Amino acid sequence: MVSEFRNHPLTDFSNNQNHEKQLQALEEVKGQLNKTFPLFIDGRDVETGDILKSYNPCQKDQVIGNFHKAGKQEAEQAIAAAQKAFESWRFVSPNERAEVLFKAAAIMRRRQFELNAWMILETGKNWVEADADTAEAIDFLEFYGREMLRYAEGYPLTPVPGEKNQLTYIPLGVGAVIPPWNFPLAILAGMTTAAIVAGNCVVLKPSSDAPAIGYKLVEIMKEVGLPDGVLNYIPGSGAVIGDHIVTHSKIRFISFTGSKEVGLRINQLAATPQKGQIWIKRVVAEMGGKDAIIVDSEADVDDAAKGVSAAAFGYQGQKCSACSRAIIDESVYDEFLEKLIRESKQITMGSVEDSNNFMGAVINKSAHDNTLRYIEIGKKEGRLVLGGEAGDGAGYYIKPTIIADVDSKAQLAQEEVFAPVLAVIKAKNFDHALEIANDTEFGLTGAVYSGNRDKLEKARRIFHTGNLYLNRKCTGALVGGHPFGGFNMSGTDSKAGGRDYLLLFLQGKLVAEKI
Ligand code: NAD
Repeated sequence: MVSEFRNHPLTDFSNNQNHEKQLQALEEVKGQLNKTFPLFIDGRDVETGDILKSYNPCQKDQVIGNFHKAGKQEAEQAIAAAQKAFESWRFVSPNERAEVLFKAAAIMRRRQFELNAWMILETGKNWVEADADTAEAIDFLEFYGREMLRYAEGYPLTPVPGEKNQLTYIPLGVGAVIPPWNFPLAILAGMTTAAIVAGNCVVLKPSSDAPAIGYKLVEIMKEVGLPDGVLNYIPGSGAVIGDHIVTHSKIRFISFTGSKEVGLRINQLAATPQKGQIWIKRVVAEMGGKDAIIVDSEADVDDAAKGVSAAAFGYQGQKCSACSRAIIDESVYDEFLEKLIRESKQITMGSVEDSNNFMGAVINKSAHDNTLRYIEIGKKEGRLVLGGEAGDGAGYYIKPTIIADVDSKAQLAQEEVFAPVLAVIKAKNFDHALEIANDTEFGLTGAVYSGNRDKLEKARRIFHTGNLYLNRKCTGALVGGHPFGGFNMSGTDSKAGGRDYLLLFLQGKLVAEKI
């Protein structure tokens, strides 16, 4: 009997022992940097000689690892291996498949400090953010394992006289899993293992900005004895192998999380049937956001300023759920802005190897340059009141940036920057704030701070986001408690970490037998 699902607790780093363990893990992982990693296809290591390097964003000349890159040939091999493995994996019992996830979660718990360390070094997450990422990965495995057991029970059918009828959920086939770099363990592991526990076989193309962490999942899955070919790991350029995998006739589904541009392209390519293709590809595409927090005239402004600052600048604003628009009732606008600036000025920035630093660098040069470009646009569209420039040149640092008095239609209020840049927008009243909040093409997360019950209830009905939070910040979704996914151009609202998620990787088969 499997116990009820519970979220894995976060590590308390104020405890000296935990602090020491994390420091030690960082030293150990630093001793393993600059190694070379193979592809993993059909249970075997594969080398191509074409190398992709991964770097530490906080120390941009530090190589994290060298990764053999897949080309079309390796992508073909991976798809063929997955096809072969599917013929047996699909008949492995749901119990056994769930057990693979439970064992992998146990290994992650054992290696938590080490996994945190890889994320601190490869993706610039501070200790707490890295630890939350590992905890979320553990949660996904524990949750989806239990979910598979639940789906395996099928559901009761209306009795038909003279027949014994049964509906079972069966897997789809071979899927391409294409995750982003910003939750390099949690999202990658969640997307991959949800597909696998449902009985599918996977070709995993990790982000080129976080291949080392993707490889950690491969190591863990090897250790739990996942059969050859069920998980194939092929880092490589999205442009070179991405289209090839997405358009391949033997790919049955694509599970993507990333930007709107890439997601829409995948959706379009996947919609065109290829020669030999005998199904409509299923596309799960979770994409970007332009998430807003509304601060109402009746809000606790101190609390709201803290929440907005944390949601805008946590992990350098590089969460799909990050607050990038603060919409403030004009009656509390000046007070809020002053408190927000005061709060955000306290943010420490620097190498996240130092646990005292709240913010690290943005992921890479292109993100850094793109952010500076948006800041220049923002300076013209509003009033720069904090930051607005790069930090220490050792890494891709950008100071927490607040641009006030931004018009709701401005570029900075409409386009996802995915960096520590917050637009503050003035609203005439609560209804106007809701109107502004809904006035982008996205609909991922949102929050409202208000002490007025009627306004909160109105937001519940009108604020059109997949994840809406009342009197709390808009980041920090928990598996099981806050199923996650957005509306409109934010994606297909798959609700990762929720009870509908596994169904995306399954199909129902009805068998009616005359008795
Ligand atoms: P991205 O779109 O640049 O890349 C995502 C993945 O797609 C990567 O693995 C990349 O290598 C791959 N890719 C790129 N081009 C491809 C192509 N032509 N074919 C196939 N694959 C291709 O996004 P990113 O920079 O990794 O992540 C940041 C984005 O992800 C932001 O927009 C953020 O809002 C979004 N995001 C959304 C969610 C969500 O749940 N909605 C969660 C996390 C991140």
